[in-house]
Amino acid sequence: MKQLEKWHWIDGTIAATLGTMDIGVDLAAVRNAAAVLTDHLQPTPAWAAPALDEVTGARVVLKHEEVQPTGAFKVRGGLNLLSGLGCDVVSASTGNHGQSLAFAARRFGARCRIVLPEPANPTKVRALRAWGAEVVLHGTCMEQAGAHARALAARDGARFVHPADEPALIAGVGTLYLELLTASPDLEYLLVPVGGGSGAAAACLVAAAVAPNCRVIGVQASSSPAAHDSWRSGSLVERPNRTTIEGLAIGAGYATTQAVLRGGLDDFVLVSDEQVRAAQLLLLTHAHTLAEGAGAASLAGLLALRSRLAGRRVGVVVTGGNASPAELGTVLDATHHAEVA
Ligand SMILES: *Cc1c(COP(=O)(O)O)cnc(C)c1O
Repeated sequence: MKQLEKWHWIDGTIAATLGTMDIGVDLAAVRNAAAVLTDHLQPTPAWAAPALDEVTGARVVLKHEEVQPTGAFKVRGGLNLLSGLGCDVVSASTGNHGQSLAFAARRFGARCRIVLPEPANPTKVRALRAWGAEVVLHGTCMEQAGAHARALAARDGARFVHPADEPALIAGVGTLYLELLTASPDLEYLLVPVGGGSGAAAACLVAAAVAPNCRVIGVQASSSPAAHDSWRSGSLVERPNRTTIEGLAIGAGYATTQAVLRGGLDDFVLVSDEQVRAAQLLLLTHAHTLAEGAGAASLAGLLALRSRLAGRRVGVVVTGGNASPAELGTVLDATHHAEVA
């Protein structure tokens, strides 16, 4: 495996040093995760999308994670993490990470508590409860919810699960990219939405191992650019977190995932929330695909890079489909139609 950078705290900020860090995820770990998942999930479809080719100028393969039982790719990570754990879990999540853990905890007979900041998306709260998770509402931002989740875990002897800095989650979501690059080994680019960065880190690790000519490009919301700015600056930074795109609403770069992204990503683009909403609408109208905002960010990134990726074979990952009715209302709002046409 590629040698990775090591991160150290210096005066309250984290700076990259020239050391190496093995995050414990390699192709073997991803293959092991794939073996775990065969008992619980089916491979998801990946289809060519000729109507999107016309709009983007690229040759698109859409990978459909919105059809997962929890509606998002994160379920792969949760199952992999819980499969070897044997204890209860507590975490904080805007939704999909929580659903992933809830789904997996139910499969493995563990108690699962998810702390959400208020106001919480009611669609996601209902889904969490339906999978048997206990929902704890605390604080007004992810940082506060996360601190509370940590405290609950410490108090009760449960495992706190970080939303991204977890090798078992990265190995689990790596199965998505193993499936995609095994089925479509000639992809030249992969566009991956980035929040905490576990999905993108997994994409980098798997692409480097099985499709070294395939370049991975990260896409993040310009109004929550912490991972992007951490990647560009080579140090972990905090940034304002103002995006309305739930799965991408993160305010800090994370050590484990940035360590992988640093050498693994070919490029990293920022898109506005409006560009993401337009891409969601395009997925509905041109690919009969219901994506939540984060699930459409890859396509928004492709549109932003249209001239550079013209004629290229591009994997566009629809990471999830958990859009609330209010979100869909925004997407269908006439103001976006002009941007798509
Ligand atoms: C969490 C999430 C992302 C971002 O993934 P990270 O691994 O946190 O970078 C993208 N899309 C959806 C649908 C998500 O739930």
